[in-house]
Amino acid sequence: MPETRARFAPSPTGYLHIGGLRTALFNYLLVKSRGGKLILRVEDTDQKREVKGAIKQLIDILSWVGIEFDEGPDVGGEHGPYVQSQRLDIYEKYADELLKSGKAYRCFCAAERLAEMRRERQMKKLPPRYDGTCRNLSEDKIKERLRGGEKFVVRQKMPLSGEIKVYDELRGEIKFKAEDLDDHILIKSNGIPTYQFANVVDDHLMEITDVLRGDEWIASFPKNILLYRAFGWEPPKFVHLPLVLDKNGGKLSKRQGDVAVEDFRKKGYLPEALINFCALLGWHPKNDDEILSMERLIKEFNVKDMGVSPAIFDIDKLDYLNGYHIRQKPLDELTELCLPYLISAGFIEKTQSSKLKAQNDNLEFKNKLTDKIIGIGFIKKIIGLEQERLKRLSEIGELTEFFFCGKVEYPVELLSWKKLTIERAKENLKIIHHLLEKIPEENWTNDSIEEDIVSYLRAKELKIGEYLWPMRVALTGRKASPSPFDVAEVLGKEESLKRIKAAME
Ligand code: GLU
Repeated sequence: MPETRARFAPSPTGYLHIGGLRTALFNYLLVKSRGGKLILRVEDTDQKREVKGAIKQLIDILSWVGIEFDEGPDVGGEHGPYVQSQRLDIYEKYADELLKSGKAYRCFCAAERLAEMRRERQMKKLPPRYDGTCRNLSEDKIKERLRGGEKFVVRQKMPLSGEIKVYDELRGEIKFKAEDLDDHILIKSNGIPTYQFANVVDDHLMEITDVLRGDEWIASFPKNILLYRAFGWEPPKFVHLPLVLDKNGGKLSKRQGDVAVEDFRKKGYLPEALINFCALLGWHPKNDDEILSMERLIKEFNVKDMGVSPAIFDIDKLDYLNGYHIRQKPLDELTELCLPYLISAGFIEKTQSSKLKAQNDNLEFKNKLTDKIIGIGFIKKIIGLEQERLKRLSEIGELTEFFFCGKVEYPVELLSWKKLTIERAKENLKIIHHLLEKIPEENWTNDSIEEDIVSYLRAKELKIGEYLWPMRVALTGRKASPSPFDVAEVLGKEESLKRIKAAME
């Protein structure tokens, strides 16, 4: 069997759509599972949509999730250039070949005439279609018009009747009626090829063996295959990935912020979670496990296990997977990932070291809310406490603000709980303060704080909740947080006593 060569062929529109990431991932898994090559080809022939810096951004974000290419604009290769706008002479040569063999023709129809034709068909609710005026122009007529300097496009000569049968590896044979296919444009009047043409020529010249792409390209499939036939080339194997729908069965939102991988990254989704999530959009392992690493995906991926029914884009599932992968992170690594979010939240700023390396135990930061210097050890403890609950890295600021602030703010009523009045809460805090004061610095751990407080309350047969609730509120200002013992340990004795005293007052 020849080596598998697959490609990811995005148009550089300025961001990577989550559906594009899925396509790239499946191509990557295909070649990795078979020991083949993955090619990045930039399809930038639609220059209106060209965005500066987009190619680099695309390569960066794919590399961030762990997808690297064997050939492409940045790494080179024997089949380059890998950017279509740098291959225009190649397309011209192949278009000439089709013109010579009569499989394509020059169309001189003026834009106004074509627009008029389109309008008429639209009014009759017919799909746009060229009427074939230039399909059979004589050689002499063509020469004459060329001599007159008339502009032209190159159109593919499609069959006028019959059925076109194409084969998709997942869906089997798909049939199209010739009458539904337009003599579509291969080369525009400015000499630039259309996607339909450049894509096929490049797949052939780059020796692509397998095309995995979104199912929005099924409509192009017969045109692609007819082009292969026109050239007498062997087409690659095609797989059209299943449609991705939103949770309500509708189309995925087009808003960039909802679908751009770059935005998922900013919101604090881990590459592990995005890969895990995208892999499940159309594929699942034999035992239906949901937690999948890239290594495991490469080992188990097989096109044959893919489905054709639409996949559902469920953001709750992505959150669940992200939470899972966050919990698997070693604390050092998670801390390093969270630092930029704590900095952008305005809680801390770097001090002496310019490089953020959480492994360096001496690293210090300035707490911008109190102007005090805090060590990385303190930050690690905070993140360790929230690791269980964290679903997105960007939530870390919101979850941990009370650790950084000098004074916790909350409505006084929050201190009361069920039947506990404010007056009683104050009394109870006094007792807590007293108990905490007696714990020596060297015993200041969550376990011994808990032990001292709980055993006292039990011995006196007091209601534990009526003490721990105001204690938690005094320390955090919140209804929900890690346990008051954990929080007290991290805050330290002095700060904990200060906060409880402030609450009493
Ligand atoms: N340039 C096309 C896109 O943007 C590629 C489609 C294909 O894979 O054939 O998705």
